[in-house]
Amino acid sequence: MRRIDRRRVERLRRRTITIGLTFALGALIATLLTDRAARADLKVGLYEDRETPAPVATSGATPAVAPRALAIEAAAPSMTAAIGMLTQRSLEIPVEGVKPGALQDTFNDSRAIGRRHDAIDIMAPRGTEVIAADDGTIAKLFTSKAGGLTIYQFDPTQTFSYYYAHLDHYAAGLAEHQPVHRGQLIGYVGSTGNASANAPHLHFAIARLDTDRSWWKGDPINPYPLLSR
Ligand SMILES: [Zn+2]
Repeated sequence: MRRIDRRRVERLRRRTITIGLTFALGALIATLLTDRAARADLKVGLYEDRETPAPVATSGATPAVAPRALAIEAAAPSMTAAIGMLTQRSLEIPVEGVKPGALQDTFNDSRAIGRRHDAIDIMAPRGTEVIAADDGTIAKLFTSKAGGLTIYQFDPTQTFSYYYAHLDHYAAGLAEHQPVHRGQLIGYVGSTGNASANAPHLHFAIARLDTDRSWWKGDPINPYPLLSR
């Protein structure tokens, strides 16, 4: 009777030790994994900080807050990854009839004092059709002092915005949140805003959107290498 009790006690003691050791090992693994994940997060954060955010909107009234539906929280891709994604999308030259060879890289030109152009100007006669460079949705129809009559379009993944400025007028029936497809007529070349009346053109810009998907924010990407291929 006593012997059985002692055995029982011994078994219980062993089991307790085993459970204790298993728990300690589990805790150790969990700590190591968490630490690794935290370090990976920090690494991503450091790379992201290298990009200097610049507003896409040229001027105008304080924009309204983006609709809640658009505020999807997801990390923006790195600039290298973003350019890779855009290259695969094979963007259309957004002015009807303009050939790649006719484009000029004016992305790094300076415009207003201390301000980089961050876009390309595609020269074309007034009234030439402006077409969507990619599939997506019309994010905003906006009128500003510098850009004149403008369109902000998002790509289907809401990673990028395409900005079309100095338009003469919009395509009939064009509306915000409307889905558009690559090559669809969205407006007409003009010289609204600060463009010279003697030199109508489309000011076209691409931006990598921030995590809040605000149409007026993002990091500029040069459209020239993407369109001149
Ligand atoms: Zn321009």
